[in-house]
This record gives sequence, structure tokens and C-alpha cells, in this order.
Amino acid sequence: MSSPSNSLVKISEIQGRGRSLIATHHIKPGQILLQDSPILLYPFSHHPNPTLSSSTFCSHCFRTLNSSKTLSCPSCSSLFCNPNCLTSSHSQYLCQTLTLTLTLNSRLNPDLQTQLNFLIAAYNLAIVYPSDFLTLLSLQGDSSPNAQTLTLHSILSSISPHPPPEFSPELTAALLAKDKRNAFGLMEPLGLSGERLVRAYGIYPMASFFNHDCLPNGCRFDYVDNVGDRNTDIVVRAIHDVAEGREVCLSYFPVNWSYGDRQKRLMDDYGFVCECDRCRVEKNWRDEEEEEEGEGMEEDGDEGMEEGEEENGGERDGDFPHAYFFVRYLCDGENCGGTLAPLPPSEGVVSNVMECNVCGKLREENVDGDDGEDGIMLDE
Ligand SMILES: [Zn+2]
Ligand SMILES: [Zn+2]
Ligand SMILES: [Zn+2]
Ligand SMILES: [Zn+2]
Repeated sequence: MSSPSNSLVKISEIQGRGRSLIATHHIKPGQILLQDSPILLYPFSHHPNPTLSSSTFCSHCFRTLNSSKTLSCPSCSSLFCNPNCLTSSHSQYLCQTLTLTLTLNSRLNPDLQTQLNFLIAAYNLAIVYPSDFLTLLSLQGDSSPNAQTLTLHSILSSISPHPPPEFSPELTAALLAKDKRNAFGLMEPLGLSGERLVRAYGIYPMASFFNHDCLPNGCRFDYVDNVGDRNTDIVVRAIHDVAEGREVCLSYFPVNWSYGDRQKRLMDDYGFVCECDRCRVEKNWRDEEEEEEGEGMEEDGDEGMEEGEEENGGERDGDFPHAYFFVRYLCDGENCGGTLAPLPPSEGVVSNVMECNVCGKLREENVDGDDGEDGIMLDE
């Protein structure tokens, strides 16, 4: 596995947390900690909806297609943005399997379809880039065959005329577990309805070492429709200052999720109980609420945080010790739930423009950076 292209983070073993990414220097807000290229990409299958058909982006680089230049594979009908995308990694296995998939997809639910998309891409990786396939196998996540993985394996068997030699129910189960633990979603541009859907998922070998924290200090961006040949890279930037030696964490889902929803997702998909600073506080809230038997939040005149004189994550008394993080770093766009991080510093000067990693909105902060409430909304 390659090292990060810059050396602001390094892999280190932290007791009880496994392999983690640690800051090797003091990191400024907005600084790029990692830019990582995927070893594997596969499309997200939407619920049947004619306005969101998966035929609007390139099957290789996932850019939005410009209809005048679109190419189509004569066999499997996959669409591509240019001849290079049509020939890269479009093996005979992939093409034959996708051709047979056409007869099947309308009968599968979108979740099964998406997992099948992953398996086809993963087994194709074994054929076209065997070393990347080994990298995929080295990632965390393991599982023995169960009813769900056996179903997927038998569907895939029925549409894979010439599978790679590794093809087996055990490998299918292991691959699906790696996907669940490690896949990152690449987002669609913001729709008219204001919601933003996943376009594709990718496996990013370095970025998969970021552990989760419910109040992250790193934030992940993607720019799939950008020009250039690294459009599917993900970029992780620091949300605020990170001291040398501190672990850099991402949130695996929107930061505004409730305690219960966060713990459920982390247990179901990642198999652990989160005991981050925020969870330790919110766990007690829940206990207190249960004791009060639904009387609701007490209003005792404590205004909570006044000035942002202490960075988030510090020990604080009060009802809502992490309010500062939410005011400053949570996007206030309706239904967005994205996290804000400053644009990268320019010549060492920290930017006062915050970017949302979900809706992409830019927000200029006051120079004193007090709370951003009076910030000016900028058009994209
Ligand atoms: Zn393309
Ligand atoms: Zn084809
Ligand atoms: Zn947590
Ligand atoms: Zn947003």
C-alpha cells in the first residue's frame, strides 16, 4: 500500500482503536491531510425513479455525461464519456456480466443491486488489477457466508459466465464485509429538491484508516464532476487546528444524527460501541431523560456556551458542551447535515471561507471567527 502523498498523517497503532491516522505536524484549519484515489468504484442503484436513472454519468470515471460525446458499449450498453474510459478496465468478464445483469436488475431491489454492482466491480478488479484486489482483501472487515451473501453469490454465479479463479461463496462474503466497512459515497450534485444522493461508492485504501469520531476533526470532500484525471479522489481537510500526535478522525455519517442512531449504525456496520467525548456526554442525557420520564429538556437558565474560548472536545460542564462545534461547523442549509471545513490555507494563511462537504455551499466567516452566524452566504 502506498503512503499518503503528503506526510501530514501517518498510520499508527493506537491501543484499543487499531490502526489509526495520526497528525505528524501541527495542522492548520483547512489543510489537506490526505488526497486518496479509489482502487474500486461502483454505481449506487437508486430506487426506481425515471428522473434519477443511472445512465447520466460515465460508467468508468463517474462524471456527468455530455450527451453529444457519450459513447456506449455495443454489448452491455454501459455509457462512457470518452474512448479511454470505454477501454479502461472494461474486461470481457465485466462486459459479459453486465450484459446479463440487464435482464436482472429490474427484478432486484436497489440495495441488492448496489451490492451486486460492488461484487462485479470487485471480481473484475481481481482480473484487471490483481495487486489492487490484494489491497482490497487487506482492508478490515470479514464475514463467513450467510443467507444474504449466499443469495448474492448465487445471483452473481448465474450471470458470470467466466468468473475469475478466486470466485467462491467465502470470498464473496469477505468482499461484502470489506465493502460495508470501507466504502465511501461520492455524492450527486445538489438536486432541486435540496437533497443530495449518492452517485457511486468507492474503496479508498488510505482513507479507510480514518477512525470514526462523532465530533470529527477531519472532513471529507469529493468533486466528481471536476475536470482532470483524479476527479474521483477524495480530499480530507482539517476542520480546525489539530495538534501534532493527535488522531485525525472522520464522522462516518452526518454529524447531526442522534445518539441512538449513531450507536446503531456503528454497531450494525462497524461492530463497535462509540465512546467518544460526545457520546459519553449524550449517553448520560439519555439516562437522565429516562429518569425524568419524558418531562423534556430542563431549562434552567444556563445559556450554555457563551464565547468560543475553548476548542470543542474539551471537558466542560453544562447541558450541551459541544454546542460550539454545531454552531461553527454544521451546515445550516435545510436538510443538509453537512460539515464545514475552511478552504485550504493560501501561503500559510487560514482561509475564512468555509465549505460544506455535502451541499458544497461556501460561507464566509467573520474575521474574528466568532460564531459564523453573521456570515455572508456566497453563491457557488
Ligand atoms: Zn469517463
Ligand atoms: Zn460492455
Ligand atoms: Zn461517538
Ligand atoms: Zn450544506
